[in-house]
Amino acid sequence: MANNGKRVRVTLACDECKQRNYNTMKNKQNNPERIEMMKYCKFCKKETLHKETR
Ligand SMILES: [Zn+2]
Repeated sequence: MANNGKRVRVTLACDECKQRNYNTMKNKQNNPERIEMMKYCKFCKKETLHKETR
């Protein structure tokens, strides 16, 4: 697997219920800050803001 050290695995957690719903990859050069995105949360049963967590 290619690993140049710039792509890192991040976990996205729902900002409302704090469930960790998604694992994704981000490019550290493109997104040096914590990423946030709207995703469907099956626990909240709606689209919520998901934030990168450790
Ligand atoms: Zn939620």
